[in-house]
Amino acid sequence: MRLEMTLLFDGGPPSTRPRRRAVSRFASRSLRGRPSRGIDGTEIVHKLRCTMHTFRCVQCGALNRVPEKRVAQKPICGQCKARLDVSGAPQEVDASELERVVASSPVPVLVDVWAPWCGPCRLASPVVGRLAKSRAGLLIVLKVNSDQHPEVSAKHRISGIPAFLMFRRGVEAARQVGLLPEAAFARWVDGFALAA
Ligand SMILES: [Zn+2]
Repeated sequence: MRLEMTLLFDGGPPSTRPRRRAVSRFASRSLRGRPSRGIDGTEIVHKLRCTMHTFRCVQCGALNRVPEKRVAQKPICGQCKARLDVSGAPQEVDASELERVVASSPVPVLVDVWAPWCGPCRLASPVVGRLAKSRAGLLIVLKVNSDQHPEVSAKHRISGIPAFLMFRRGVEAARQVGLLPEAAFARWVDGFALAA
């Protein structure tokens, strides 16, 4: 009996060890597998995106980069020290704040241009909210009330709402006018925002 126990204890750690070895072997192989792309800028951006999450401080608007493993530790804003909202929930902004975030965000920015009188916009709102939260840190989702900030519609030539504009590295990568079914909308977002 005592021998059996000893074997069990000895046998415990190795059952986890091979799994860890397999993961690290896979990681090093995948890095070795693409040496030319390893020093490529896009590859580096992709790697950063895997480990760093970006959150906009609701209080001061600063963009904060937080290591993925620290997201659950109630991070605070590096600028104003307020608790960061790491839920990924959409944030309402005005025209100048929109331009500032789009120009400086290290992650893609999805903009929902809406108005209170627009029925499809109200239908889209919970869909956008779910999508934003499930991609928290990897995507910044902003909302612009087109009645309050008509200059946004003018600047981006938006003629119908709801309009969804996807910005990557400061430029518009795609736009979708009108609400899509949720699954199709998620594919649209991921196709433009999260693709390497
Ligand atoms: Zn702040």
